[in-house]
Amino acid sequence: MDFALTAEQKQIKDMVSEFVDEEVKPRAAEIDETDEFPADLVAEMGELGLMGMPFPEEYGGAGLDYHSYAIGLEEISRGSGGLGTIVAAHTSLAGNMLYEFGNEEQKQEYLTPVNEGTDIGAFALSEPGAGSDVPAMETTAKKDGDEYVVNGGKLWISNGSVADTVILFAKTDPDAGNKGISSFVVRPEEDDGFVVEGTEHKLGDKGCPTAELRFDDMRIPEDRLLGDEGEGFVHALKTLNGGRITIAARSIGIARAALDDAVKYAGEREQFDQPIGDFQAIKHKLADMDTKVQAAKLLMHKAADLKMRDETFIKEAAQAKLYASEISREVANEGIQIHGGYGYTKDFAAERYYRDAKLNEIYEGTSEILRNTIGDWLQK
Ligand SMILES: Cc1cc2nc3c(=O)[nH]c(=O)nc-3n(C[C@H](O)[C@H](O)[C@H](O)COP(=O)(O)OP(=O)(O)OC[C@H]3O[C@@H](n4cnc5c(N)ncnc54)[C@H](O)[C@@H]3O)c2cc1C
Repeated sequence: MDFALTAEQKQIKDMVSEFVDEEVKPRAAEIDETDEFPADLVAEMGELGLMGMPFPEEYGGAGLDYHSYAIGLEEISRGSGGLGTIVAAHTSLAGNMLYEFGNEEQKQEYLTPVNEGTDIGAFALSEPGAGSDVPAMETTAKKDGDEYVVNGGKLWISNGSVADTVILFAKTDPDAGNKGISSFVVRPEEDDGFVVEGTEHKLGDKGCPTAELRFDDMRIPEDRLLGDEGEGFVHALKTLNGGRITIAARSIGIARAALDDAVKYAGEREQFDQPIGDFQAIKHKLADMDTKVQAAKLLMHKAADLKMRDETFIKEAAQAKLYASEISREVANEGIQIHGGYGYTKDFAAERYYRDAKLNEIYEGTSEILRNTIGDWLQK
């Protein structure tokens, strides 16, 4: 057992960390305030190879392993939770679907520009009536000659209004339950009938547009089907399992940012003629915050390591995401408490971390669903 990062992991961590400190952190408050997609930052990240970290160079990726990617995403999220979601939805979800389930032509045509960051990816699974209950989806894709005709809508789609490539899940056989779901590549610019209904006004996760999409008799060529008809549900589950490792990474990145700021503030703020960090009550809060972050990191590293070794990691990914997301919210909450009244204002980033952290407990499997997964696994 080796707890040290490999040379490659250390290198990616240092490189992304430097980029985040220089380019992301100074922009984070503005991204939060304007809620605008930071296209220039994303383009720069594409040039640095940060939009396709875990995919082979032959498809425009950076050729890193998944573990290094998670480490990179943790750093990005330390700078901006919204940017963390942009990259996670683009890479862990859309990119992964193309890499794992696309054929050679689909990889060349759609994955390469996604990895290079010239195309933005999105993953459209959830619907108004189908969040945790994925098979309840109502969007259909009906075969008509050499095309599919898609009707329906999707909700909560990260990057959905800015995406060039949307991975869409729809029912090709509405009577077959989860075995009737298929996955497709959709190109909003090319496919008539693709409509962006609007974007959500959210608590946090600003900068990453969360879109509602509608498909009105949208015709897509049959060669946009990923794999075979009926495989979409399995594609989605496999992809979300890997994605959960990176939501754990996003959680840890946000928690680290909250902890760093709290440590700094505790050393600077004086009450009763001494830094508040000298009070045992504050020192213990910081100790608990760091202990939780370190424990979450171990879970995340274990799940990422198992995935890299091609071993089963479903329970471990669920545990990493469950624990990291919950401690991320707790750590951010204590960060506000340590800042006192100032923590409740926008003068400090403490409140942003709290708003950004909350989302981790909801998307890519709510905490309740993850507990179901872990419990089912234990009782197998
Ligand atoms: C900002 C944001 C970004 C998102 N990005 C994407 C994206 O890019 N792509 C995408 O497809 N989706 C995305 N989602 C959707 C997200 O995955 C869903 O919101 C999530 O799966 C929960 O679904 P729901 O909101 O319909 O809640 P519901 O499924 O209606 O759940 C409501 C409550 O009931 C609980 N519950 C439901 N079923 C069970 C059960 N069986 N056992 C115990 N408790 C249960 C839940 O845990 C939750 O507490 C995003 C959501 C948000 C908020």
